[in-house]
Amino acid sequence: MINDGRLTRRRALGLFGLVGLTATGLAGCSSGPEGSGPAATPTPRTAPTSADDVWAVLAAGNDRFAAGESQHPHDDEPYRESLVAGQHPIACVLSCADSRVTPELVFDQGLGDLFTVRSAGEVLDDAVVGSIEYAVEHVAVPLVVVLGHAGCGAVQATVDVVRGGPAPDGSIAALVQAIEPAVRGVTAGGDEAAYLAACVEAQVRSAAAALTGASPIVHEAVAAGRTTVVAGVYDLESGRVSQL
Ligand SMILES: [Zn+2]
Repeated sequence: MINDGRLTRRRALGLFGLVGLTATGLAGCSSGPEGSGPAATPTPRTAPTSADDVWAVLAAGNDRFAAGESQHPHDDEPYRESLVAGQHPIACVLSCADSRVTPELVFDQGLGDLFTVRSAGEVLDDAVVGSIEYAVEHVAVPLVVVLGHAGCGAVQATVDVVRGGPAPDGSIAALVQAIEPAVRGVTAGGDEAAYLAACVEAQVRSAAAALTGASPIVHEAVAAGRTTVVAGVYDLESGRVSQL
C-alpha cells in the first residue's frame, strides 16, 4: 500500500518545492546561500550529524521552552533568505496535529530546522509515511521523532469507542480505527488519567514501530545507521518532552 502511494523523486521535488537536495545535504547547514551579501549572511551554524547530537539540540531547546526562555532562533529575514537555496533540517518530527503541540515551538527551533509532519494521533497513512520517507531518503535527517502528547483527543476518542461509544463521523473514524489496536493493548481500569496516559504512550510507541516496519526506506536507513526513530510524549502542563 505504501509503495503504491509513494512519490517519485521527480514528483516529490515538485510537490515539496525543494531545490538542491542531496543525501549528504546536512553538511550545508552552516553556510548561507551562494551569492548572499554580507548583510544577508545568517549566523553560521554547526549542524549535528548524529541522532544523539540532534536529540541533544532538541532537548536543550525543549528545556528553554519549558523554562520560558525560548530563543526563537532562525526566524529573521536574513535567515529566511538563506533558506531560499534549499533546506537542511536536523530532524523529522511526526507529531499530533493538536494545536498545543507545535514542534518548532516545543523544541525552540526555527525556519528550516525541522521537517515536520503532523496527523491527529500520529496516525500513519501513505501521505504521512511518504513525507517521512522523503525526509529520510532525500533530506537525510539523522533523527525521526514521533511525538505524542498528554490529553490527546484522538486517543481519547478511541478510548470512548473501545468502551462502546458511537463511531465518529466521516474520516475521523479512520483515525480511531488506526489508533484502536494500541488502545486495546492497554489494560483498562484504575486511575483514568493514568489510563489515558498509558494509551497515549502505547499509540506513540506503536506509530514509531509501525513506521520502521511499514517503510522499507526508513527500515533500511535505520538498519544502516543513517537514521534513528525515537518516540516521545509532550506534557501540556510542564511543556516538557520525555523520550520513551
Ligand atoms: Zn493529539
